[in-house]
Amino acid sequence: MSRIEHPELGIIECVRSVRARSIRLVVRVDGSLRITYPLFGNRRRAIDFAESKREWIERTRQRLKERTANYPTITPADIERLRREARAYIPATLERLARKHGFNYSSLRISSAHTRWGSCSGRNGISISLFVMLLPEHLREFILLHELCHTRHHNHSASFHTLLNRLVDGHERDYNRELKAYHIPRTK
Ligand SMILES: [Zn+2]
Repeated sequence: MSRIEHPELGIIECVRSVRARSIRLVVRVDGSLRITYPLFGNRRRAIDFAESKREWIERTRQRLKERTANYPTITPADIERLRREARAYIPATLERLARKHGFNYSSLRISSAHTRWGSCSGRNGISISLFVMLLPEHLREFILLHELCHTRHHNHSASFHTLLNRLVDGHERDYNRELKAYHIPRTK
């Protein structure tokens, strides 16, 4: 692997690969480029290829920038604060909702998952990301209810949705749509 600083295209990481059948160009999240080319290929040709894709590269970089601009960033100190808030809020609220609707869960874990708001294991162990503390109250409860419903239906079947939708007075679709506007932040 080699890394070159191209005068117009910026940083390009060149990777010769046994598996590559042809030249493959990727724009990474930070905007840098990565070219993978076959073992018997030649690096100069790979770079020529990237140069011929200049317009596509610009467009892709622009799109990435727009997409990640909406993602907030967060510091480790913020995460500690959220963790304290989560410990004060989640166990009590989950317990209250479980009692109210007659659910049984076996354990609760407050995670720092960046990929999902919550999960429920086959043994009804519920895990909730501390980042739910960034959501408005009704969506936070919605996440907890979603996981509680999984203690009865370990899937996203029609019965699961019927149950969840009833518990949120018919707002399941609205709430899911609202949730899409929130992203779990990246750590700075
Ligand atoms: Zn689910």
